[in-house]
Amino acid sequence: MYIDAHQHFWVYEPREYAWIDDSMALLRRDFLPGDLKPELDRNGFQGCVAVQARQSLQETQWLLDLAKDAPFILGVVGWVDLRSPQVRSQLAAFTANSKLVGIRHIVQSEPDDFLLQPEFLRGISALEEFDLAYDILIYPKHLPVAAEFVRKFPRQRFVLDHLAKEEQVLFPAILAGQVATTIIYHSPRWVPIARFVVGR
Ligand SMILES: [Zn+2]
Repeated sequence: MYIDAHQHFWVYEPREYAWIDDSMALLRRDFLPGDLKPELDRNGFQGCVAVQARQSLQETQWLLDLAKDAPFILGVVGWVDLRSPQVRSQLAAFTANSKLVGIRHIVQSEPDDFLLQPEFLRGISALEEFDLAYDILIYPKHLPVAAEFVRKFPRQRFVLDHLAKEEQVLFPAILAGQVATTIIYHSPRWVPIARFVVGR
């Protein structure tokens, strides 16, 4: 079974998606499950994982609703406020729906040490009891902090989104063994999760 492990859906609205600049003009339209299904079929993929693009509880619910109506959306990586004292009740409400498989925060737009802030660490520590992965969305400058971050949670599943926006540099370096990398595969349910620890 082939699964596209990272897919975004949105109803395009310029203010909500201000990061879509002129260089990404192709993205300035709606992308909904009906647009994706023919592409998946054409390429021999049986399903996808939908990943959050805005930081709101409403969007997480919207993605879960899309997944209910489109069985080929096999999982949702949503957003909750990981720094909130209410994080456990937010997680409990969403995990009543078994399609929630992970949580992501747009860390690339936050201060450099964001991943190590105590309130955020407290939120991450709640994920394991709900059997949720955490998607790390960062730039290369955050990699040393990210390595320290993942070491604090040895049993937590992590996904390094877009190889820290450095696919073209990092991926060949990993393949060539030029970057010290640990990749640990788990087999929770159907999702192959890779955990990358990058650093020396
Ligand atoms: Zn993405």
